[in-house]
Amino acid sequence: MTWEKLTKSEVISKLNTTENGLTSDKATKNLEKYGKNALKEKEKESELKKFISQFTEPLMILLIIAGIIAAVIGDGIDSAVIFLVVILNAVIGYKQENKAENAMEKLKSMTNKTTIVLRDNHKQEINAEDLTVGDAVILEEGDSIPADLRLIETYDIKVDESSLTGESLPVHKVDCEVTDDSHDNMVFMNTQVVSGRAKGLVTSIGMNTEIGKIASMIQEEGDKQTPLEIKIDKLGKTLGLLAIIICVIIFVLELLQGQPVANTFMTAVSLAVAAIPEGLPAILTLTLALGMQKMAKNNVIIRKLLAVETLGSCSVVCTDKTGTLTHNKLTVTDSYTTDKNMAYIISGLCNNAKVDKDKNTKIGDPTDISALEYAINNNYSDNITQTRLHEIPLDSTRKRMTTINKINGKEYVLIKGAPEILLSMCKYIRKEDKVSEITTEEIKTIEKIETEYTDKALRVLLLAYKEIDDYSKYSAEELEEDLVFVGLIGMMDPPRKEVFDAIKTCTNAGITVKMITGDHKNTAMAIGKQVGIENPDKSLTGPEIDKLSDEEFMKVVKDVNIYARVFPEQKVRIVKALKTNNEIVSMTGDGVNDAPALTTANIGVAMGSGTDVAKESGDMILQDDNFSTIIYAIKEGRTIYSNIKRFLKYQLSTNIAAIITILTTTLLSLPIPFNPVQLLWINIIMDGPPAQSLGVEPADVNIMNTPPNNEDIVSKANLIHITLIGIVMTIGTLGLYLYEMSIGSNHTLASTIAFTVFVMYQLFNVFNCKSKSKEKNNTLKYAVIGSFILQLLVIYIPFLQTIFKTTAIPIMSWIPIIIVSALIIVAERIIRLFEKKVI
Ligand code: ADP
Ligand code: MG
Repeated sequence: MTWEKLTKSEVISKLNTTENGLTSDKATKNLEKYGKNALKEKEKESELKKFISQFTEPLMILLIIAGIIAAVIGDGIDSAVIFLVVILNAVIGYKQENKAENAMEKLKSMTNKTTIVLRDNHKQEINAEDLTVGDAVILEEGDSIPADLRLIETYDIKVDESSLTGESLPVHKVDCEVTDDSHDNMVFMNTQVVSGRAKGLVTSIGMNTEIGKIASMIQEEGDKQTPLEIKIDKLGKTLGLLAIIICVIIFVLELLQGQPVANTFMTAVSLAVAAIPEGLPAILTLTLALGMQKMAKNNVIIRKLLAVETLGSCSVVCTDKTGTLTHNKLTVTDSYTTDKNMAYIISGLCNNAKVDKDKNTKIGDPTDISALEYAINNNYSDNITQTRLHEIPLDSTRKRMTTINKINGKEYVLIKGAPEILLSMCKYIRKEDKVSEITTEEIKTIEKIETEYTDKALRVLLLAYKEIDDYSKYSAEELEEDLVFVGLIGMMDPPRKEVFDAIKTCTNAGITVKMITGDHKNTAMAIGKQVGIENPDKSLTGPEIDKLSDEEFMKVVKDVNIYARVFPEQKVRIVKALKTNNEIVSMTGDGVNDAPALTTANIGVAMGSGTDVAKESGDMILQDDNFSTIIYAIKEGRTIYSNIKRFLKYQLSTNIAAIITILTTTLLSLPIPFNPVQLLWINIIMDGPPAQSLGVEPADVNIMNTPPNNEDIVSKANLIHITLIGIVMTIGTLGLYLYEMSIGSNHTLASTIAFTVFVMYQLFNVFNCKSKSKEKNNTLKYAVIGSFILQLLVIYIPFLQTIFKTTAIPIMSWIPIIIVSALIIVAERIIRLFEKKVI
């Protein structure tokens, strides 16, 4: 990276812009000239290629071979049906894939980055894609840098350039007034602001940026398979292999029993198609994608598919206080000032918010906004002229903000922040214009008032200042020494009203809620009590945690639910301690320093209003910052997880039943009850609509009344259950089949009845897999009714009778069919009872 050396004025004239960026006209022109600020994405697979790839699946190739054989031996109808099935399968597979992909695309576009620019001298938020050369960009702590920029104003800015250079230490940057060297005065696309603030001019965008030039880094890694997907994939493959082995055995046995090769081959292939759960991965992806889409509509953006699975088993929710449990709309309600005017001035000037009463606009940090409103209400700016010279920014470790201002010709350090930190830095007190040394008596009074305010759930800031000659002579530490106390202000931030119920839901669901805040211990406990956190009287502060060894902390972490004055680095320790207690932890965060905790937690939850850095390290983003939305997400996660279990159970029962039925008839040297066309029918109808509709079942009524479930989705117990159901279906199907033959019915009728009872089993089994819910799942209802009607058509329409080799079932025969197949519901209850006893 070698860039020419340029001074500030050279930069401005070269980019043909101004210190305050472009006009919107000019921006539009530049946008046309330079195009969008975007990195080109990987070329997508063409639609045709996607469709054709459906035919190259091993099962499809087998089917095609079977179709060709049928044609060769002159079985025109079977051949046509098999090819129809091949095409149908391809269309369904292609459609499913597309649907899932589109859902993902939509989600991606919802996480588009935005950036703050100056246009027409106005600060505004735009999509990072619409940024153009010459734009003036405002960067703040935690921002992801949207393009390559020359900095023209900096406030102690540090940038993490590891994505570009691999260097993990943050780099200090300065503006082009200080140096013309591009190494120091430029920042680059997709690197992050770790601390400080700056203003910069866009020099290059999109593919012309440094990151754009490094082609290999542009290809973002795709969504990796989640553990559940891998597990289900593996299960599908294992069962598939097993099915193929059994099909080969059946094929050989049938040949030994003297059956014709071609027909036996077709039966074996159709059985393989019916028995292999080839549709599982597709339904899984679709279920997850649809779930994510639904959550996106309700303010939860899932960034990593894995989160959907993990959410369901979440056992501890660690949450911020300010903004998540509360509204983050603060108002100063109480104040204790020893010098009113100075207190107003500090509140108003040591402040980065903008409040315009006439236009009713408020921009900035809510704490700052409330301090500024307090100052404005008391006319702080009357009789003063001032300029700001410098700022030491607020961060969650410093817990204070400092500015240097020239007020009526004199230079001042103004500071506001956490009282217990600032009070020890105050050496003096200002009482009605007179400054004197602060006495122990006065300190006690101040501490008493602080306790009184915090007990009322107020956030308390201490206001202090000092006069200096020339700030540039002093270090940051020196600037904040020997301060003069002028007052305390207490701000009210009411809890969100939904939170109380959401926390109650958590308690019922066996999920513990822990509050982690940078605020004062008493404030935290008072809010904790108001929203119904368990054990709100026990708390730990950041400094107290530091004194505990890992082992000691591990023991207490379970019981303490309020953590106050926590430093962001400590969040990682809290997550780790909870994880050693085998908890599945979700943790919220918004700042740059929260990123490690978000990555360490099982589910990192970033705030929609948070920094880009936090959003990029989170597994999900809460668009509305609201605590109750986390609980909504957990409920959705649990529902999706149990729905995956449902369709898995359903589909595998069908597969296993089909294979056991045919294996048994072969072993008993009986004619096989289903012909290839019937087997393919079973595969398409049963694996299709009913299984898919189980993927979108509404939440069970008890979903949030049970403890978090860590049960393996394909556990042995589940597989045994499924196999037992399969055996019951086999007994019923073969029982009726043998009965029909024993009373002398012809083979076509016996086979039609066996085929029908098998299909009816699947339709009744849907009810075994359904959730208990007040909401209706109409898709499921239609899927079942539709499948039943289709089955009737197959039995009674002459044209279809020829294709399926069926015959009309006499009315009276329906009685045993329905009774026998409905018994699967009873069988399910009995198996469940038995399971409860054994476990
Ligand atoms: P929270 O976890 O509640 O979001 P923060 O990290 O935002 O806590 O704030 C922690 C502490 O930092 C506050 O209790 C307050 O003392 C101080 N603080 C927060 N915002 C400001 C501000 N705008 N100016 C000065 N001090 C602040
Ligand atoms: Mg905060």
